[in-house]
Amino acid sequence: MRDYPVKKNEEQIVTIQDLSHEGMGIAKVDGYLLFIENALPEEEVRIRIEKVGPKFGFAKVLEWLKESPYRVEDAKEELLRTGIAPLSHLSYPKQLEFKQHQVENVLRKVAKMPNVPVLPTVGMESPFHYRNKAQIPVQKIKGQLTTGFYRKHSHTLIPLEDFYIQDPAIDQAIREIRDILQRFGVKAYNEEAHEGFLRHIIIRRGHYSHQMMVILVTRKQKFFQAEKIAEAIKEKIPEVVSIIQNVNEEQTNVIMGSTNRVILGESFIEDQLLGKTYRISAQSFYQVNTEQTEKLYQIAMDFAQLNKNDIVVDAYSGIGTIGLSLAENVDHVYGMEIVAEAVKDAKKNAELNAIGNATYLEGKAEKIMHQWAREDVRPTVVFVDPPRKGLDASFIDATCEMEPERVVYISCNPATMARDVKLFAEKGYQLEKVQPVDLFPQTIHVETVCLMSRKEK
Ligand code: SAH
Repeated sequence: MRDYPVKKNEEQIVTIQDLSHEGMGIAKVDGYLLFIENALPEEEVRIRIEKVGPKFGFAKVLEWLKESPYRVEDAKEELLRTGIAPLSHLSYPKQLEFKQHQVENVLRKVAKMPNVPVLPTVGMESPFHYRNKAQIPVQKIKGQLTTGFYRKHSHTLIPLEDFYIQDPAIDQAIREIRDILQRFGVKAYNEEAHEGFLRHIIIRRGHYSHQMMVILVTRKQKFFQAEKIAEAIKEKIPEVVSIIQNVNEEQTNVIMGSTNRVILGESFIEDQLLGKTYRISAQSFYQVNTEQTEKLYQIAMDFAQLNKNDIVVDAYSGIGTIGLSLAENVDHVYGMEIVAEAVKDAKKNAELNAIGNATYLEGKAEKIMHQWAREDVRPTVVFVDPPRKGLDASFIDATCEMEPERVVYISCNPATMARDVKLFAEKGYQLEKVQPVDLFPQTIHVETVCLMSRKEK
């Protein structure tokens, strides 16, 4: 075996130099990197080495010899451990700086653009209790149906009642629904044995409307007393307007299966964003932090400098929220999205808001963009809002072929954004502005909007 500067189980005293993109403290011993949970830059800590690998290792703090002035004193261990709030030990202004630096780093390292200024992260006034959606695993512990969250990198359930970053009305609903299900004798799913019934409880609550959707994810279709259970939930929580059974028969980490059955009420809830009303179905994506999403969209629209003649593409359109927020100020909006239910919602949402100049297609963005290019759709502004893996290179090709004046990129993963921005730059689109917006306070997730403009040839 190779010799490393540290050995498993050995104790050391180190000073933390930086925070990793996963929010772990980084220290070096003779040039060897150690990642240490719950340790902040400038802290001096006594650690025990837990894992030694070829390039880096992991260690655990045994004692803090010097604490960071930015440490939040009453941070809860279990929230750090479960990964619900892995940055909750760091003061909020420092979290915002951390995110700004993450974006600067990837623009320098991945996009090779060290000189583009990254604006300070737009934060929340009260960065707690913001999530409008919860996906809570259920397990049987000591004979009780238990809700909580997995320990990081594992499926060990840590029981939790206060989830800290969720709408408290959702936390309360989880407790009440758990108790009702327990009373009806519903069995929790057992992942290892792939036995039992109830896998997850998913709740969505409209930030403005307060309408609540409850999704019970089950391993089998047959749901004994489903209607009675739904009635008991509705009676206990009057805000509930939709109760859905989602069946997931697979042995998988993916939370939802593909079949939904409405047990009670509607198949959707409604909520508002920037004054417009939206229908949201069970399988449709909807941003989890409503207050910050309104800021995010406003910044994206300001970056786009829209006018009445603009033809806009809203790529990865979900239920249509970006395009419909700006449709009245432009000539036409074209949206595309891969999830059929979301496309149906987007069409309905155009109708609900009396918007007649928006067209939605179902399918892969990369395919539809090429189709539109062939059909001579000539957007002047393209908004993209892809999932974590970012854009397909062929999507970027099709977009550049259409020669829009501006591209507004909304990203939930700075690394893929930087990769894509570089491809755009190679095709004549210059990165002008970069604005991180904190959609996920207390977590390591970074949301960014950036503006690219076509250089005159
Ligand atoms: N703009 C929306 C949705 C953004 S989330 C909003 O702000 O709410 C990203 C969306 O992209 C999701 O709705 C997802 O279903 C969709 N998606 C993922 N891969 C896709 C692809 N290859 N083509 C089109 N849409 C895709």
